[in-house]
Amino acid sequence: MALIVHKYGGTSMGSTERIRQVAKRVAKWARAGHQMVVVPSAMSGETNRLLGLANELAPAKQSPASLRELDLIAATGEQVSVGLLALALQAEGQPAVSYAGWQVPIRTDSAYTKARISSIDGVRVRAELARGCVVIITGFQGIDDLGHVTTLGRGGSDTSAVAVAAALKADECLIYTDVDGVYTTDPRIVPEARRMAKVSFEEMLEMASLGSKVLQIRSVEFAGKYRVPLRVLSSFTPWDIPLAEEAASGTLITFEEDDTMEQAVVSGIAFNRDEAKVTVVGVPDKPGIAYQILGAVADANIDIDVIVQNVSHGGRTDFSFTVHRNDYARTIELLKDHVAPATGAAEVTGDAKICKVSIVGIGMRSHVGVAAKMFRTLAEEGINIQMVTTSEIKTSVVIDEKYMELAVRALHKAFELEQVPAL
Ligand code: ADP
Ligand code: ASP
Ligand code: MG
Repeated sequence: MALIVHKYGGTSMGSTERIRQVAKRVAKWARAGHQMVVVPSAMSGETNRLLGLANELAPAKQSPASLRELDLIAATGEQVSVGLLALALQAEGQPAVSYAGWQVPIRTDSAYTKARISSIDGVRVRAELARGCVVIITGFQGIDDLGHVTTLGRGGSDTSAVAVAAALKADECLIYTDVDGVYTTDPRIVPEARRMAKVSFEEMLEMASLGSKVLQIRSVEFAGKYRVPLRVLSSFTPWDIPLAEEAASGTLITFEEDDTMEQAVVSGIAFNRDEAKVTVVGVPDKPGIAYQILGAVADANIDIDVIVQNVSHGGRTDFSFTVHRNDYARTIELLKDHVAPATGAAEVTGDAKICKVSIVGIGMRSHVGVAAKMFRTLAEEGINIQMVTTSEIKTSVVIDEKYMELAVRALHKAFELEQVPAL
């Protein structure tokens, strides 16, 4: 008998009929003798609908007070899901009980709309499991020290599931979604993309951090920190396929590099449309200037990603960086109102229609010329590279958003990702 955590995404919970299928699948696992904890997302479209309602009433700047309300509103989507799934399981003759994050409790910090989990109390969950119940816990949310409901950022149910699995020392965490595993790139963009039977933890971490939405980055971080066995698989297979077959399907996130693993130089391609570029033009090129600009941005709690400082001409230089698109207007305003006057910069410009495309692969550590091949491929397609950033196992470029799909397809082909790599 094992303790297993299942997570079901929005599409998998998208209708009462889909929820019935989830219940049948979970009941199958429970009947096989496993203790089951299930973490569902809100029904597909529901979180967007809820945030849309909020936006109709308060489209302006988001204050800390309004962010608190957004979390209370958005968290209701998952509360509906857990209750419905508990009813569906009970209808299958399987005892089940649902819990909101605050009831467990799942404790978080107070960073509304992007809170981090700090601890999970497993006592109530264990007691429910011991009396034979399937325990269903809301994804995406928790409670802070003052008792306010918080949410974990979009896609946060993945993180809830892995964190619950870590806290309960579960034997495995299975992420059921609308694709049958992790692919070399988003199969919606490149139909030839290939499912990987295994992907290393490090590569998954990069892919998630660079925009592959199949797993939220923090869920991968949790899996690494607590060594949670993690698998991504389809919720669209018939619920009654043999359990052993289901348990071995999809993509396993592995922590050890072994000889039998696929050894591609580049394993996957990620892309991110959520960023915007800002440039502070004509700042004096002197010590402390980067701190003056980026320090002010960091103090405003705005995350910075790619940074480029150009060579200086006549003692002045241009300084560019990217931020989340949601923070774009706020960043431009801050730079114009405070940073430009303080530094003597000539101008502040920006471009929200950019995207970041990245190639990822452990093999890049031991191969040269990979970035050059990426640049050549983009050049052949006539795509201009605006910014570049690299680390040991990835190279990212910032390009015009309108070339994103073209770039991803061309790179997927150039690195032959549709073919199974030779061992
Ligand atoms: P869920 O609602 O189950 O959490 P998401 O929409 O958050 O599902 O994540 C699944 C989606 O992630 C897929 O439908 C796919 O379009 C997208 N995706 C992006 N990159 C990848 C990738 N490398 N492999 C598989 N899916 C990917
Ligand atoms: N329902 C939330 C969202 O849409 C969380 C999740 O699905 O993981 O972002
Ligand atoms: Mg998701």
